[in-house]
Amino acid sequence: MAKVLYEKDIQKEVLQGKKIAVVGYGSQGHAHALNLRESGHEVVIGLRPGKSQAKAEEDGFNVYPVAEAVEQADVVMILLPDEMQQKVYEESIKSNLKAGNALVFAHGFNIHFSQIVPPADVDVFLVAPKGPGHLVRRTYEEGAGVPALYGVYQDVTGNAKELALAYAQGIGAARAGVLETSFQEETETDLFGEQAVLCGGVTSLIKSGFETLVEAGYQPEVAYFECMHEMKLIVDLLYEGGLENMRYSISDTAQWGDFVSGPRVVNEDTKARMKDVLTDIQDGKFAKGWILENQAGRPQFNAINNQENKHQIETVGRELRDLMPFVKQSVKSKQKDVK
Ligand code: NAD
Ligand code: MG
Ligand code: MG
Ligand code: MG
Ligand code: MG
Ligand code: MG
Repeated sequence: MAKVLYEKDIQKEVLQGKKIAVVGYGSQGHAHALNLRESGHEVVIGLRPGKSQAKAEEDGFNVYPVAEAVEQADVVMILLPDEMQQKVYEESIKSNLKAGNALVFAHGFNIHFSQIVPPADVDVFLVAPKGPGHLVRRTYEEGAGVPALYGVYQDVTGNAKELALAYAQGIGAARAGVLETSFQEETETDLFGEQAVLCGGVTSLIKSGFETLVEAGYQPEVAYFECMHEMKLIVDLLYEGGLENMRYSISDTAQWGDFVSGPRVVNEDTKARMKDVLTDIQDGKFAKGWILENQAGRPQFNAINNQENKHQIETVGRELRDLMPFVKQSVKSKQKDVK
């Protein structure tokens, strides 16, 4: 079994006295910065002027242009959108890294697909929380944490692994468990998970279920509650106790339906498609498409996004959620979450 490390296994001193620049203050950035500071580390923020800057300043951080933040830091955590990282790295980060600094990522995309080629005289590692940034923050405040993967790409100080672990501890991940990985494994499994299961898989499943009911003449509001709203309640049970716990809570009728109909919907064909998706990730086809899409100004991304936001499940859902203020509250703070 893989070795999972916890707070007791980690020497946090290795990060003491080092200045950490968190570059980007979005979903992950705000969570890392706030958690690290509360864990006793010195944190500055690197940003361009804009909305995030106001938020970081409101939270009491010193905010600098990216180049200045990197220049004064020993550890540089890149929490920019993946598709922006290469440009910002070339313009503002590369020339401000000093020998022995650490360059850190929360996702391996740009290193693994060679969009960023780091200098040979810095440590390069990743600390990738396995959860949305807003939960990295919320669970830390609750005294818990989101598990994380760490991996070392380049170790020039001889301390890269210890630094990665201390960083993981600083954001609260070691309360939940920290697991060693490589940039390749983290990149490929993260992309696969979000495409086939967590984001792509789940949204396609929900929409297909909703459409099937509505096309058969059932009320869209009923279809919404059945296929979208209840998903969270079921997923909470899975999170807390796996398949067995969820099946314990549902009726035996639901459990029998799960056994006989689930595999008719998600079957060997679906698994073959999942393998295709994984192959496209492994051989770089997905990465190339996403890089080119960004270079072209995101024509497909924007068109699909507009289409999706107009789907009936979204218009019905907006109306129903307006009538459930307790739901809306939590959605607002998590809008940009899963990446
Ligand atoms: P985000 O889009 O939420 O935030 C990006 C931040 O970068 C914002 O503060 C934005 O203002 C800033 N920014 C954008 N362009 C900039 C520029 N040119 N110069 C300076 N600042 C700029 O991003 P995110 O979702 O937190 O993702 C950051 C990294 O974390 C990515 O590598 C992502 O794969 C990884 N990650 C994200 C999640 C998640 O929950 N969102 C989970 C695991 C890993
Ligand atoms: Mg992920
Ligand atoms: Mg039911
Ligand atoms: Mg039961
Ligand atoms: Mg987004
Ligand atoms: Mg991801």
